[in-house]
Amino acid sequence: MKIEVIRQRRKTVCLKMINADLAELRVPKTYSDKKIQEFLDEKRKWLESKSKVFKENEDFSHKFDLGNSVYLFGKEVDKFNRVIIGFDDLSKKAKRVAIRKYYEAQFSMLEEIAKDLSSRTGLTYDKIRPINSIRVWGNYSSARVMKLNWKLLLLPKNLVEYVVCHELCHSKHMNHKPQFWNAVGKICPNYKFLRNELKKYGFLLKSDTED
Ligand SMILES: [Zn+2]
Repeated sequence: MKIEVIRQRRKTVCLKMINADLAELRVPKTYSDKKIQEFLDEKRKWLESKSKVFKENEDFSHKFDLGNSVYLFGKEVDKFNRVIIGFDDLSKKAKRVAIRKYYEAQFSMLEEIAKDLSSRTGLTYDKIRPINSIRVWGNYSSARVMKLNWKLLLLPKNLVEYVVCHELCHSKHMNHKPQFWNAVGKICPNYKFLRNELKKYGFLLKSDTED
């Protein structure tokens, strides 16, 4: 593993994992090499376990062929060249647009899940909209509009349900304070596990930037 040491004007030491093979260590300008070595020795176990998680997540993401295969609820269901006419001849950028449009056309599947969970939990929304975001799976505004990322369609259903439950709970709590998580726990008891699972799919969020 490579560790990039950055000396800069700061008071604290900050160690951050960039990927499975690279970490970044930011230290005050006056920090000695010896101190750096001591700090890294202390953090060795942490670095190893973080690196392992990064590696596992990278391996996991490589199982998905997002540019060629259609995934619905965690399963490969088809190939884009079979469901989109002329797909193979499109430019890389046009492919990404076509893929997004294809999934957005299936948004009613997410609406169904939202409707069902809303009636089961009594938590409601006024409007529901698809979003194309590289940062969030969904959001719920004070205007009671629930926005769901079309990329949710690719996730296993239990994770989609977790995200929808999470957003529905924002109808009662517009924050992430303990009361909010209590509400989530009531309708989704294993939310902590699901939240961790969802992190594995973070690569999907970042996978398609059209601009
Ligand atoms: Zn939230």
